[in-house]
Amino acid sequence: MTAHQSTFFDGGQRLQMTESIEMTIQSLQAYGPDHPHWGIAWSGGKDSSATLTMICWLIDTGKIKRPETLTVFYADTRQELPPLAIAAEQIMDELRERGIRIEVVTASMDKRFMVYILGRGVPPPNNNTLRWCTRQIKIDPMEQALRDRVDQLNGQILMITGVRQGESAIRDRRIEMSCSKDGAECGQGWYQQVLPNAKGLRGRLATLAPLLHWRVCHVWEWLKHWAPQAEFGDWSTAIIADAYGGDEAEEINARTGCIGCPLAAEDNALDTILTNPQWAYLAPLKGIKPLWRELREPKHRIKKAGLERLKDGSIAKNPQRMGPLTLEARAMGLDRILGIQTACNEAADEQRRPRISLINAEEESRIRALIAAGTWPDGWEGDEPAADTVMPIVYQNGAVQPLLFSAEDAA
Ligand code: SF4
Repeated sequence: MTAHQSTFFDGGQRLQMTESIEMTIQSLQAYGPDHPHWGIAWSGGKDSSATLTMICWLIDTGKIKRPETLTVFYADTRQELPPLAIAAEQIMDELRERGIRIEVVTASMDKRFMVYILGRGVPPPNNNTLRWCTRQIKIDPMEQALRDRVDQLNGQILMITGVRQGESAIRDRRIEMSCSKDGAECGQGWYQQVLPNAKGLRGRLATLAPLLHWRVCHVWEWLKHWAPQAEFGDWSTAIIADAYGGDEAEEINARTGCIGCPLAAEDNALDTILTNPQWAYLAPLKGIKPLWRELREPKHRIKKAGLERLKDGSIAKNPQRMGPLTLEARAMGLDRILGIQTACNEAADEQRRPRISLINAEEESRIRALIAAGTWPDGWEGDEPAADTVMPIVYQNGAVQPLLFSAEDAA
């Protein structure tokens, strides 16, 4: 009997899976034929990988009509967990064998996560509303790739995303953009909601989330047991489910995102990967998340000395706000990341396991050049005081609360 009859997945659940696939087919049959050109926004994470492989299987088996063109946009952030990056490479080979067009979408050098933080000095993101990273390393490059593609095709694209919110979302008719909700895959909600309104894409892009109603256990089941079988396409997706421990943890809501994402409460995915002896050599990656936290501390940053006038002459909301990383902090961060990379790769060589790339030679040299040139983010000169300097407090109305005692008093 087939391998997809796992212990937790039989009877009613199997029926639900079949129903879920049926709903996916119906949504693609309803919306697909109106669009000759399809794109798939794929990050290598669990939801978008399930979406990608499911759609290819449905097309290959004639369950849905093949579009005139299909382009897979692989969002390569350079921040993916190594097992997922490796799986993505294998899946790309499998897509190429089928003659499917793939575009690898990566942010320009200065906008990449590591270069932006360690070269330009922008602090690591720390909350969901103000995070710059998703837009910069996922959305903006995807927007550009799509603009280029719709121009080439001179038509409209149906962009298929891996947004998956389960049954509650169907009830709510609401798609959360936050990647911290319900184990969603970072970026997919943004692709769904932000891209259709992006400059140059309005009216030229429709989106569809054909796995919207899937439960997370169905995603694991598909990736681990169905998709790897010849009858479902022979895909290299099991490694993705294994990376999250999805097979054992039926309802685990593992969030998919960057290595050491500063916004995730825990490094759950990385922790699971490290319990697998094959990937245990990646343990030094555990040092990345604490580094981002440390770099946000005042001792590594500069701050505005007092009131800040904006370009339009108005006063900025938060006087004495903390800003970019000092040049020393950036150099320290670069050393730490390179040290982590070296430690992983030495262990990889010893154990004949795949090497990893956190910062490649080109990125390292760009980071060093930006630090050497004393580059600061817009609105900063670098001559501002260190953020841990004790100073009189300035309020937005200009009032100043002096220090209770001065340095001389203390002396
Ligand atoms: S996973 Fe985290 S670090 Fe990566 S883009 Fe999303 S929020 Fe930013």
